Amino acid sequence: MRFRLDGEWWTVKVQRPPSKELCEGMTDFKKRVLYFHPRAIAGDLLGIVAHEVGHATMPCVDETHIRDHERVVSVVARWLANTFCEGKISIGQHRRDK
Ligand SMILES: [Zn+2]
Repeated sequence: MRFRLDGEWWTVKVQRPPSKELCEGMTDFKKRVLYFHPRAIAGDLLGIVAHEVGHATMPCVDETHIRDHERVVSVVARWLANTFCEGKISIGQHRRDK
C-alpha cells in the first residue's frame, strides 16, 4: 500500500527488510519505503507500526526516543483497549485519508 507524507508518496512492503533481515522493520528514507517483517506484524502490529511510522514522520528523532514512542503508544493503547474496549484495538481511518 502507499500513503502520502509531506507531499511525497511512501510505500509499505511486508517483507524482510533488505540488508537487515533480522530486524522487525526498517524505514528507507531514500526510497521512501517502510518494511515490515511478516513475523513482526503477526506478533506486535501496533508496536512495529508505531516504530517505523515514527521514523518516517519524525526523521530527526533518535532510535532511543523512537523506541520510547513505540513503547508508550503500545502501553497506552493496550490500557485503553483493556479498560474501555474489552481488549480490542480498533483501527480507524483518519478523516483526511477518506
Ligand atoms: Zn528504529
